Parts: sequence; structure tokens; C-alpha cells
Amino acid sequence: MRALILFFGLTFGSIELLFGWGAEGHRAMANLAQELISSQTQTKVQQLLDECGDRDLAQASTWADEIRENAHLEQSRPKDAESFNRQFPNNASWHFVNLPLGISSYVETERYIHGENDVIHAIERCIAVLEAREPVPGDPSRAQALRLLVHFVGDIHQPLHCGTGFYRLSDTEPPVLVTNPEEAVGLPTDRGGNDLFYAPKQELHALWDVGLVEQIADTFDFRSLAALLRQRYSQGSWPATPGDYHRWAETWAIESARVANSAYAGIRFKSAESMGEPNPLWISIALPPEYVKRNTTVAAQQLTKAAVRLAQLLDRLRWP
Ligand SMILES: [Zn+2]
Repeated sequence: MRALILFFGLTFGSIELLFGWGAEGHRAMANLAQELISSQTQTKVQQLLDECGDRDLAQASTWADEIRENAHLEQSRPKDAESFNRQFPNNASWHFVNLPLGISSYVETERYIHGENDVIHAIERCIAVLEAREPVPGDPSRAQALRLLVHFVGDIHQPLHCGTGFYRLSDTEPPVLVTNPEEAVGLPTDRGGNDLFYAPKQELHALWDVGLVEQIADTFDFRSLAALLRQRYSQGSWPATPGDYHRWAETWAIESARVANSAYAGIRFKSAESMGEPNPLWISIALPPEYVKRNTTVAAQQLTKAAVRLAQLLDRLRWP
């Protein structure tokens, strides 16, 4: 059964390029977060959910993926997608940031972050919108900001949405992974594992988005997954992130890039080919034994941490 789920998960997952946790992971994380927020926060959140017609945070959590231009959807695209994409043509970049695995401080990220279209700035912008008394022209609405925030706090905890492989390539040798932030600047990347293939059409990124998530509770059902995460991993919980919550996302991204070391540990890089779109590089890899088992635990911890931290952030916000 597990093998079957993993197979379907990976097959399905391979079309979800750059999606962050698949729908199951996002919904489970949001479901757990909603159970953890205070009743005052719940009232504020519910007002915005009512405004956009979402039942709960779990439903709100996947909107950011559903509206994307390159989204692969079973159902039709939400009706507000077109105007949102016209207003924010770069929103597909808001789901991730590409940092080397050896990153250790936010100062070091400056050479890797250009402009404000990355997951760190996206979270910071959502917080600003949710705390503003008046709507700011040019910003998403408050209801949209809530939907985006719930999604991006999930994405930033998917290790391959922050940490990525940088490579030294040669015609004769296998690709060499470069993790040192001093040495990685300007080198080609695997785009958060989207260009790493452990089998034909099987990307490492999709394994993390979908395959590992389905392994956690051996289910496709997000409520069962949320229940298991609460029971098994949120005991003792995670203490609040130090410092001003307006900048927590910076700490989370660095931490997530460090966690991504586990996603790269033991991988053998076999060969690299230069391709066109959609995968500029095609790097064949071999996963070490126990890779899935070991990293399923990491994925479960990251999802739980995301839920706990989303609740802490929502409780901390100065809601107008
Ligand atoms: Zn995403």
C-alpha cells in the first residue's frame, strides 16, 4: 500500500512544478494552525474568510497555487485569478527563495535575493497589509493577504523552497554541489530540486511536495494528516521565533535552507545536461538507502512547525 501511494504520489507530484507542499500538506498545516489560534484571532480570521467565501484556513491555504498562471488544476481557476495575475505578474516567485545550503545569516542572503519577489518579502508584505487600517492601493486586499500568508508560511517551511543546490559543472566530471555562500554566487542551481531527477520524470522537489507528505500518515486525507501531526509532533510545541514577528520570515528561511541539508545528504550526483525550458538543467541523481524514511520525519516536523508558527504569528498580529 505504501509503495502504491508513493508511486502515485510521485507520478502526480511530478506535474506540480514548484508548488510547495501539495494541497494535502498545505491544508493539513492550515487545519492544525486554525486549532491552535486564540478565540480572538479566530474572530478576526473568520471575518476575512467570510469576505472571500472560504470555509476555513485549510480552504484558504491553496488559493495562492490555484491562481498561478502555470497551475495544473483539476477544477477551473478561481474567478479572481486573472485580475490578480494582471496586478501581480511576478506572484509565481513569491513561493520560494534560492539560498545555498551553507547559509547561516540573513546578511549573507543579500547576494542571493534581488528585488522583493521572494517568499520572505511576500510574507512580510502580507503582514503589513493585514495590520494596515486602510487598504493601500497596489497591495493585495486583506482577505487575499490572509490567503497568501497561510500558503507562504507553509512554503517557507518546505526545505526545498529555501535551500537549493548550486553546482560546479564540467564536461568530464559529475556535477559538484557547492554549499558555501561565498563560493556559490553566480553558479547554476537545481531550482530547489526541480532539476534533480532520481528516475525519469521524478523530480526531487515533487518528492518533497507530495510524496513524503503522503508517507507521513499513509493517507491522502488532510484531516487525518493534521490529527497525526498534532498527536505525534506538536507535543512540547515550538517556542516562538525570537525577535520582531515582522521579520520572523527571515529566520524561518535561513533555518529551512539549513534543514534542506538533510534533503541533499547522501545524494550521488551522476551527470548534468543543459536543457531548454522548463528544466534548464537536468541532473541525474541516486538517492541513498533510507532516504524516504529519514526525510518523511523531517517533512512531518517542518509541516508541524509551520502550523505552530502560523498560529503564533496570527495571534501576534495587531489586527485593526
Ligand atoms: Zn506555493
